[in-house]
Amino acid sequence: MPVSDFQPVIGLEVHAQLLTQSKIFCGCSTAFGAEPNRNTCPVCLGMPGVLPVLNQRVAEFAVRTGLALECTIRPTSVWSRKNYFYPDLPKGYQITQFDQPICEHGRLVIDTPQGEKTIRILRIHMEEDAGKSVHDAGGGQSLVDLNRAGVPLLEIVSQPDLRDADEAVEYLKSMRDVLVYLGVNDGNLEEGSFRCDANVSVMPKGSTTFGQRCELKNLNSFRFLKQAIEYEIARQVDVIESGGKVVQETRLWDVNKGVTRSMRSKEEAHDYRYFPEPDLPPLHVSAEAIDAAAKALPELPRAKLQRFISQYGLPAYDARILTAERPLADYFEACAGHYKDYKKLSNWFLGELMRLLKEEGTPLSALRFTPAQLGALLGAVDQGTVSANAGKDVLGEMFRTGKAPADIIAEKGLAQVSDTGAIEAVVDDILAKNAGEIEKYRAGKKQVFGFFVGQVMRAMKGKGNPALVNELLKKKLGD
Ligand SMILES: [Zn+2]
Repeated sequence: MPVSDFQPVIGLEVHAQLLTQSKIFCGCSTAFGAEPNRNTCPVCLGMPGVLPVLNQRVAEFAVRTGLALECTIRPTSVWSRKNYFYPDLPKGYQITQFDQPICEHGRLVIDTPQGEKTIRILRIHMEEDAGKSVHDAGGGQSLVDLNRAGVPLLEIVSQPDLRDADEAVEYLKSMRDVLVYLGVNDGNLEEGSFRCDANVSVMPKGSTTFGQRCELKNLNSFRFLKQAIEYEIARQVDVIESGGKVVQETRLWDVNKGVTRSMRSKEEAHDYRYFPEPDLPPLHVSAEAIDAAAKALPELPRAKLQRFISQYGLPAYDARILTAERPLADYFEACAGHYKDYKKLSNWFLGELMRLLKEEGTPLSALRFTPAQLGALLGAVDQGTVSANAGKDVLGEMFRTGKAPADIIAEKGLAQVSDTGAIEAVVDDILAKNAGEIEKYRAGKKQVFGFFVGQVMRAMKGKGNPALVNELLKKKLGD
């Protein structure tokens, strides 16, 4: 049977580092990039006799995320110890949640070529991150950096509802958008503060029994996620086709070779000897706290996208770009308060504004001009005070200096000439100098008209109102 006779089944486990200032069970900083082992203390180093104290903000972020993903919030959740030995885990166990996680039974809606699809969320739990092993650090040594040990994570586990690599990518992108909108995560795959593992299996089409699954790791970009899943699907089909059996294992995506390779046989939960964490009491979340968190939820990316389409009459393409990041969406709405042709406003955002932001590497928060000033510039373009082209120059100058558009137009002499008398004088002058061309034009060589327009615009240094220039030329040429 070819690959197309098999149905892939995929579930994702997302690990999101929470944007707290301090770690989950101690006061150490979570800042990225500090000198190795600088952000550590006896608690996160796992010294004997120390006790963990929960950072309350971690639970708040977990509840906020659970509500945004339509989960049930468990009033009492329980901390567990997950025991394993590894040099980057100083305590010899990880504090996590096991059978009683804080959030369960949620969902995330994604877009697929066939329309909307709901991906069920099995659970969300809180846990601490491990440290980092640094291999080949020189002299054949391996070193350990424990700055990351104890950094708070949310693990978000989906049901195996995804059916191909593209759906998995769409799910991960949507998840990242939600977490970034909520302000709980920075969505940075490259730095590893937003990471995911994929569980992949295949079964013959029409079957209802899932095949044996493999867990894929090291998927630190959307492209790698797609490539790794596609490779793994083909590999598993090959194994089955050649009469073999897929073995349950953890496989690593090899970026250089473009293959997944076996890392270790997959552990079962009992291998970790989970038991309730004796140093932390169960976590209680009151109904009032859940209520308050629900009321404080921001508008989520999908809702905002749909509102941009309906409220501003924008095409889905525009709305998607404008709502991809909350600051850009907010800025668009601020400008929409000052300029009512929303599609035109969107064109300026998607064109000039985003080009400037990208070229100059400026964050939106550092913009020097106000929404009112941008509105005034677009109004000036509409009224013909400046041409659209000159308007782009004005925007560039506003971007660099924060000066008002009217001042820039005056200073740089960019005002468009819409004075009929002034344009007529130039038109007469050009026609008087080009009698031969006029004859060609009247003899039927209509493309000469463009030559006249060009000559008039050049004489006026590009500032003639193009509509008036055209109109006057036509009149004089007897059209
Ligand atoms: Zn610490």
